[in-house]
Amino acid sequence: MRSLLVGFDSFDPGIYETLAEKGQMPNLTSLAGKSGYSRLKVCAPPQTEVSWTSIATGADPGTHGIFDFVHRDPSTYIPYVSILPTKISAVGEQFIPPYTAKTIFSEAADMGYPAIALWWPALFPARLELPISTIPGLGTPDVRGQLGVGSYATSDPSETKDKTRVLVLRESSKGKFVGALEGPITKTRDGIQPAKLDFTLDLIDDARATLRVGTVELPLSIGKWSPIFEVKFKLGLFVNVTAITQAILTQTRGKVSIYFLPLQIHPLHSAWPYGAPKSFLKETWSNAGPFLTLGWPQDTTALEEGCITDDQFLDLCNSIFETRKKIYYYHLSHMKEGVLAGIFDCLDRVQHMFLRDREDVVHDWYHKLDGFVGDVQSKMVSLGMDKARFIVASDHGFKLFKHKVHLNRWLAENNYLNFSDNDNAGLANVNWDKSSAYALGLNSIYLNVKGREGKGTLNPDQIEPMLAEIKAKLLALRGPDGNNVISSVLLKHEAFNSGPYLRLGPDLVIGYAPDYRASAETGLGKAPALTIEENHDHWGADHCIDPDAVPGVLFANRDVANIPEVSFRDMPLLMINKNLDQSHLKPPSEQTRQGQGNIEERLKGLGYL
Ligand SMILES: [Zn+2]
Repeated sequence: MRSLLVGFDSFDPGIYETLAEKGQMPNLTSLAGKSGYSRLKVCAPPQTEVSWTSIATGADPGTHGIFDFVHRDPSTYIPYVSILPTKISAVGEQFIPPYTAKTIFSEAADMGYPAIALWWPALFPARLELPISTIPGLGTPDVRGQLGVGSYATSDPSETKDKTRVLVLRESSKGKFVGALEGPITKTRDGIQPAKLDFTLDLIDDARATLRVGTVELPLSIGKWSPIFEVKFKLGLFVNVTAITQAILTQTRGKVSIYFLPLQIHPLHSAWPYGAPKSFLKETWSNAGPFLTLGWPQDTTALEEGCITDDQFLDLCNSIFETRKKIYYYHLSHMKEGVLAGIFDCLDRVQHMFLRDREDVVHDWYHKLDGFVGDVQSKMVSLGMDKARFIVASDHGFKLFKHKVHLNRWLAENNYLNFSDNDNAGLANVNWDKSSAYALGLNSIYLNVKGREGKGTLNPDQIEPMLAEIKAKLLALRGPDGNNVISSVLLKHEAFNSGPYLRLGPDLVIGYAPDYRASAETGLGKAPALTIEENHDHWGADHCIDPDAVPGVLFANRDVANIPEVSFRDMPLLMINKNLDQSHLKPPSEQTRQGQGNIEERLKGLGYL
């Protein structure tokens, strides 16, 4: 068996079909002509980590247990990050795998084939017991255990940022600046604080500088990213943490500023099981690297917060794409049999930031991805692999995001949720004895059920009527444009087949209509004063809405035409000619999922929240 998958996160069928009609997608159009192109039915909710996990397992969240970015511990209502769950053990807080269901990769390995998964979401930390080779995608944290917090060093003491670490750049003598990077948190004589690493920045002129950090000396040109470099933090007498980052000199006139990407795990010096096996990481790093390791390396937060410009952001996306292509080609050229899959997610970030205002930029990326498909196919031919299975798929499409919906405010206004402190309205300040429903994550509503929730109020006979009532009201909700805000509300059993995780899932899955999406505050369980707010963020488009409004795509060199309505459930069959038997899964124990008091800190850097 030889099976290749190229995953294009967020590749939208509507945009593809329009460009294809104009003849601008020659390679994908020709692949579609061979045996198939179809819109792909994606699971609910159409979030990246949910959707790729559903594709990998051929099953919905009831089986794999990833329902939304944010879950809650029902006994305490305390949220945690679904793709980065932790447990407290004797050695402190540890990351645990977000799910245990079988995947296309583990099944291929069980059948005796090599399997490689590149940048697939929710595969951090590595499952060292499985014989699959992984470089993980979305959900991989930085060296501080956050989903990516960059550092902005500035000589202007008045500058502040919400989600970016601001560092002081002090002028020690004319044109010479000093600052300190803040690494992993550690115990020091002065208490628990980040390990520091001094750096100096010497301006040569308005356009050039020299950055010195640790043993590294880098020439910088204004507005251009440095190569990836290593920094080493001392955490104690014998403990070091090596991280990787890139820097960009952004201002030299009036004030001086330099931005550092989030400090990322060095794959060969990681304290956590980053990828697997070590020999695979080493081989990839030395032959096709270096590469960024953060799950969300395209720094949308730095762009949103004005640390970098549109062009600098796009340059970063380009270099990430070029590196990933190189890694994919390297493993393709060494592939004898088995499965090779890679997720390319720059298009997702580009659409979030540019679909509303710069369609030309987005279309350029569709052309670029089409070119990549052509290059992979030529390489397959020259490697004698033209008979191998070849699939191109996306996890969902894309729509504009014009209005933010504060769903907990709506629940409060309709007397389903009662806040004890209306000025700081959020799930931390709720009169639970007067509440019957709450929203958490981008598409989830939970009822406050007696015996399940810590302070539940609803008896079993009240559940069905309450679900029906909330569903009807939400479907009737109109926005400022006069249109429906929500186009689908699925009950748990409508959204998911049965599975061992079903009882942990939301009671209602909310499918926003195009132009609408849950606010970031809703995702975190908060409730600002208005129910609907206009979205003026740079992040102007999204996909965490009604799954029927954002289907994905599927191209393959065989089989597609024979499957009537292709969905994520068909992907194992298409990839490895086999459906996966998930009957081995046991219901999760109550103790394995713990709330994370620091969830906002942890989620910083994930643009959705
Ligand atoms: Zn996605």
